[in-house]
Formats: sequence, structure tokens, C-alpha cells
Amino acid sequence: MAEIVDILEEKQLSQEEQDRQAITRNYRRLLESIKANMDEEDKRNIRLAFELAVDAHKEQRRKSGEPYVLHPIEVARICAEEIGLGPTAVICALLHDVVEDTPVTLEDISKRFGERGAHIAKIVDGLTKLDHAYSATSKQAENFRKVLTTLVEDVRVVLIKMADRLHNMRTLGAMPRHKQLKIAAETSYIYAPLAHRLGLYSFKTEFEDLCMKITEPELYKDIARKLNETKRARVDYISRFLEPIQKALDEELFSYRITGRPKSIYSISNKIKKKDTPFEEIYDLFAIRIIVDVPPKKEKSVCWQVYSEVTDIYRPIPERLKDWVTTPKSNGYESLHTTVIGPDGRFVEVQIRSERMNEIAERGFAAHWKYKGVSSQPDVYDIWLNSVRDMLENPGEDAVEFLSDFKTNLFKDEVYVFTPKGDMRTLPKGATALDFAFSIHTDVGYRCTAIKVNNHIVPMGHELENGDRIEIITSAKQKPSEGWLKMVNTGRARSKIRSSMKEERRKQGELAREAFMRKCKNLKIEVEESTELLVKHFGYKSHVDLFFDIAMDKLTIPQIFKQFQEENGKLVPIVIEEKPKPEEVEVEVPKARRKHAGEGKLLINDEPGNLYDYSFASCCNPVPGDTIFGYLTTSAGLKIHRTTCPNATNLMANYGYRIMRTEWGGASESEFVANLIIKGIDDGPGVIQRLTNKISNQLKLNIRSLAIAGNQGYYEAKVSLLVPNTDQLYLAVEALKNLDHVSSVTREDS
Ligand code: MN
Repeated sequence: MAEIVDILEEKQLSQEEQDRQAITRNYRRLLESIKANMDEEDKRNIRLAFELAVDAHKEQRRKSGEPYVLHPIEVARICAEEIGLGPTAVICALLHDVVEDTPVTLEDISKRFGERGAHIAKIVDGLTKLDHAYSATSKQAENFRKVLTTLVEDVRVVLIKMADRLHNMRTLGAMPRHKQLKIAAETSYIYAPLAHRLGLYSFKTEFEDLCMKITEPELYKDIARKLNETKRARVDYISRFLEPIQKALDEELFSYRITGRPKSIYSISNKIKKKDTPFEEIYDLFAIRIIVDVPPKKEKSVCWQVYSEVTDIYRPIPERLKDWVTTPKSNGYESLHTTVIGPDGRFVEVQIRSERMNEIAERGFAAHWKYKGVSSQPDVYDIWLNSVRDMLENPGEDAVEFLSDFKTNLFKDEVYVFTPKGDMRTLPKGATALDFAFSIHTDVGYRCTAIKVNNHIVPMGHELENGDRIEIITSAKQKPSEGWLKMVNTGRARSKIRSSMKEERRKQGELAREAFMRKCKNLKIEVEESTELLVKHFGYKSHVDLFFDIAMDKLTIPQIFKQFQEENGKLVPIVIEEKPKPEEVEVEVPKARRKHAGEGKLLINDEPGNLYDYSFASCCNPVPGDTIFGYLTTSAGLKIHRTTCPNATNLMANYGYRIMRTEWGGASESEFVANLIIKGIDDGPGVIQRLTNKISNQLKLNIRSLAIAGNQGYYEAKVSLLVPNTDQLYLAVEALKNLDHVSSVTREDS
């Protein structure tokens, strides 16, 4: 009877009173969860923050109906209990939504908390901005950059944000479905990888599971149910597996504990999908973790000792050994993993680590200060923060690109490589030798001519592996080219190459631009506007591309002024009543004959070539035997290109009516220019002599010019040869390839 009365009384409590009780209860839980030592000021400030939050959010409720302030209180508790953060973070977590949602300003906060006010306000500011940062639209991406600036100043901003997101994900049930999907997408796009990168493994795992619960509810429920059903059998198996191990370890002189837990639902679902195996056939559903409690000095040797005990009992699978004790992962993770064959032939993963390593594995970045200086390992977070700083200082073209670069470069797993001096560098997994060059310095990248990995010359696009020792060979004459874009995988290198090429195109177009300006001046036409008009009209991306094409003769100034005329100081298109079909365009064919180098017998449209005023394009230098075509320029007559010329596609696609069928017409006595790029190892003086000897004396070919560059044992030579035809040319290429120390011979631009 008394019980019933109690319940009735409770029901009669006003909503207000119930809210008040819930808030007090949760606040107490928060205070209990703070493990850090606090002084009087900390305690006072936490109370102050709590009161400020309660007051500021007093009118707000969450979607679930509960008072809004329970959310910041819970976020603060996650910070303290699940991440292990101290009082400042707790205060900031309590205040993380007030500036955004209530009239309280940063200034108010700054004033209220005395000496520490400015710092607290700054973190809260970072948290406020972070709310709008994660999305790939440019303005939000721009915010993301600001957030990272805060991150490098105070990592707590991001850690608190993680706690905020985790609580929102845990309570997502109250949200409408479309919002759930959006939040889940955001979480898996940015929060889960960021948690991984910050070493917050338990957060990462929970994020992934919570996302999957929303995006694939059926599969999630199915796996969860099956895990539950097989629990009994699993527990039995684990204890059978562990028995002999425990026996062996009990004889050692250190304390240890063992945990065995199922893998996350998300990772199990990945296995099902990747290996296309049903749940019933996945054996490594759980991992055994042996955690030893030993002083830092002994932890490495003890881990290996445990490894040896385990593998004395069960046969290990050698390729599944992962030693992150000697070289931790770039996010700080340290552990020794092995997979052994347990009873009934089942594979069991065993993770061996110390208590310290375990704490770092669970709390990552947040635990890292506690152990700063304890481990002899390089400080992986400092390295990571440096690369974040580096990206902030060298932003790409725009914010969206920056965000995607950030994602590809700083979330990925990394490879550790070494400079010749033995300094370690980390690069995202998949990075190439050329990426490494750009990571050292932009100029090293630009000037890179060859790369040695572990003393062997490799292609610049060679993918790096852990432990590689890399040496970059540079030459002042080297310049990036289009092809380099295919040899890099980091955003940094890619954007540097692009901007260098843009600059190069701009330089090349400079003369064309000046010529165009002169023409405009003569006709009294406004330049800027006209340029814009032409860029649009011809479908270029920028004026750099327009002037580059003019410089390359793909579009000529007379051609432009055949289509445009001046009207009131402006350029306007000439309207042609009936546009003739391209085939019918009468192109004036200059038939005057002119002397030119590399004179050959050509057939142009089945007519003898000497009827035409032709010359060989210097962009690709055709040699008899190459497949070729003629392109009729308006000012420089007929130009003969190779069909493999880098300009060919563009010419044929855009100016089909100017293309003339061209063939080689029988033997000729002339010689033709062919440029070869020869790369090889410079083993002392005499390289040039050996090359020239081969070419001049043995192959009996004339050298028109030779440029050689290189250092540190490697060279690259550009040789301009005169050859009668491609047969001779390829013989020369083969002969040169067979020379000792020559690693490659290629024809330029082919
Ligand atoms: Mn929040």
C-alpha cells in the first residue's frame, strides 16, 4: 500500500520538480565521474558553468522531451569518464551549446570565469564553429579550416565535440528518419575517421555501430541477434582456449588480466560482405586481449614473452603477426597482434599489450599527455599535429578541396619512411615516391628527377612501404609535367603540381596575351571584357588556357578576328546568316614553297607534299615512319604533327575541318629531329662520352644537342638526334638501352 502511495505522489510531482530532480541527479553523476584533481577554483567554475547552462537552456527541450540541459551535462560526463578529460573540458562541455542556442555571449563567458575565462571562451568558440563545419559545401568547409586552427591550438575542442556527437548518436532514436540518416552520414564521413585518427578506438567502434544501426537496421539486428544466440558457446570456447595460457602466465612474475570480447557488429558485417561468407562461417568473431601490468621499461620484453608463451601453446599464422609495439601506428596505437590456431582448428586473434598501451589504445590522444615522455617512441600526435599545421599553412585552391585533402591525407593509415639521414616521415598509405619528394619541400618535388628507394632507382610513382629509405635526386632544370599527376596520391603534391603547371601555361601564354592586347589597343577595344567574352565563347576554363592555346597556335588572333569585330569599343561576334557545315569551309591553302629543316617526301590529301607550305611541328617532331596528320594553321601554314602528339586530340576534336590527311611518301635523304630522354646511373666521369660515343661512332647518328643533368649518382639526359626514319630511331633506342647503367630511354612526348 505504501508503495502505491509513493508512486502516486511521484506522479503528482510537477513537471518542473521532476526536471529539477533529473538535472540534479545527472549533475551529481557528472561530479563523481571526474577523476582529475581539482582545486577550489575548478570546483567553483564547474558549478558556475552548470548554473549558467541550466539557466541559459531553461526554455529548451530535446526531441525526446527531456530538459535540454541534460545533454550538455551528459556530454561533460562522457568527457570526464569516457575520455578522461579534466575540469576545463568539463566546463567547456557544459557550455558547448549556450552561445549557439541562447543569448549568452562569448564575452559573458570570458568575464564570468576570471583568469581562465578567456581560454574557456576560446574553446567554446571553437565548439560553436565546429557545429557548422562538417559538410562539403564550401562555406562549411571553410569553417572546417577554422576549426582545425583551433584544433592545433587546443585538441580538447575536437575531443569535446566527439563526446557531443557520441551523445547525439546514442539518443538519435527521437529524431525523424531523414535526420537520422543525415546525422549518420556525417558521422561516418568525418567523426568516425577522426576518432580513429585521434586513437579513440572505443568511440570509433561505437560510431560505426550506431551508424550501421541506422543505415542497415536489418543486418545490424540480425548480427546482434546471432551474436547473442552464440554467446554461451563462445564463452565456453574462450575459457577452453585460455586455460593453458593462464596456466603458463601464472608462473611468470608479472600481473596480467585477460579480456575476450566479440568484435563490433560493424566489423563483423564488413567481414561478411568482404569475404562473402555467412555469419556462421566467420570464426574470429572475438579477440582475446592479454594486458600486462609492468613498468614502462619492461613492457616491450614482457609483451614478447607473453607472445612466446601463447605461440608455444598454439601455432601462430606468421603473416598475421602485427608488431605495433616496435613501431606504433601513426595514431599512437601500440599492441602486439597475432592470430593462432586454437582448439577445433579455429583462428583466434590475440592482442598483447601493457596497461599503458591499453589506455592509449582506448583513449588515444586524450591519454597521450599522461604518458608524454614515458615511451621512447616518437610522439605520433606531435607529428600528426605538425602535418595538420602544414596543411593549414599550405591550403589548396579552395576549401572544399582542402576538406577532401584533409580527409584523404590525415585520416588514412600511414606509412613510415625514412630520409637518408634516418629521420622518420609519415605519409598517408598509398603515397608514392614522388609524394615523398613533395612532402620534404615543394622545390624538392618540382626538381625531382629520380628517386632511390632502399638504394634502387624506382619509378616516381612507386608506392612506398613501411621502413623504406628514400633518397631524392634533383636537378635545377627539372619541371613538373601533366604526367606527374598520375604519379602522386597526396593532395599536397597534386595541388603543387597543378599550380606549377598553371604557372607554366601562364608564362607560355604571356606573349600571346601581349599580342592580343596590342591588337585590342589598335582597334580600341576594351581588353578585360573582351578576354572574358572569348574565354566563354571558346569554352575555356580561364584566360590562362585561352592565351596558352593562342601561344600554341591552336587558336590564332586572326582567327579570332574573323569571328569577332569591334563595335563601340567592344568585341562582338560577327553574325553569319547561314553557318556553313565544317566540311564546306573553304580554307585558304598556302601553296608557296618554303625551305625547312626535316624536309621529307609527303603525300598530303594524296597530292605531293611540296605543293604545300608545310613544316614539322616542334611539339612532337615527327620522323618518317610515325603516323602523322597535317593541321592547317591560319598564319603558319600546314603543320605536321604525330597522331600521338599531346595536342592531337584537341586539334582533331575541335578543328576537324582543318585536318589534312598526310602520309610519308617514300624514302628521303633528309634527317629529322627526334628527342630522347635517357635516364641512368652516373657512376663517375665519362657518362657523356659513353653516350656520344655510342650515338656518333657506333650508330653513326648526328647529335644536334645534348643536355645532361643530375646529381648524387643519377642523371637524366635529353639528346636531340637527327635520324632518317623511325627504324633508325628505334635501333638507336634499343642500343642505348643496352648500355650499362642506362635505366630507361624514351622518346619525348610519346
Ligand atoms: Mn551539443
